[in-house]
Amino acid sequence: SKPIVAIVGRPNVGKSTLFNALAGEMISIVKDTPGVTRDRIYADVEWLNHNFTLIDTGGIEPDSRDIILSQMREQAQIAIDTADVIIFITDVRQGLVDSDTKVADMLRRSHKPVILAVNKVDNFDKFMPDVYEFYNLGIGDPQPISASSRLGIGDLLDRVVEHF
Ligand code: GDP
Ligand code: MG
Repeated sequence: SKPIVAIVGRPNVGKSTLFNALAGEMISIVKDTPGVTRDRIYADVEWLNHNFTLIDTGGIEPDSRDIILSQMREQAQIAIDTADVIIFITDVRQGLVDSDTKVADMLRRSHKPVILAVNKVDNFDKFMPDVYEFYNLGIGDPQPISASSRLGIGDLLDRVVEHF
């Protein structure tokens, strides 16, 4: 069966924007799967003759005891456990925050391949200097992207499919 790629990260970093960018351009089917929480959205994606299933997740707020946020965290953990490759998204505008470090620790424990995407790099000249601090997560080279402007998406997908 097809490899599964999960998009994870804190709320508001741009996971769904990336998902929709891939869905809008390259997807054959986008579907909400009945019986599965609304925060897990599946899509079939094709990139360079590789077919995979992409999962959007609601987001991970590592320390929150809020019931909704802890349910979202559980769903994200299920997506992580299911995935063959994980796209971990952070936000260059907010910079590296403590929650990112905690999500990175969760992902390391999964022993899955993780591609670190630094989103909202809408202008590479302006924001690239801020991308480098994400090396401190110790999870590999940060891939600058702009999900809303569709920048860096091809390079990101090239790195994803290397792991199939
Ligand atoms: P999610 O909670 O991680 O799924 O994040 P969303 O995809 O819902 O996006 C959260 C906010 O970030 C929305 O206001 C988006 O329009 C905005 N956003 C997403 N991607 C980008 C981007 O590449 N650049 C900028 N400037 N804003 C973005
Ligand atoms: Mg979302």
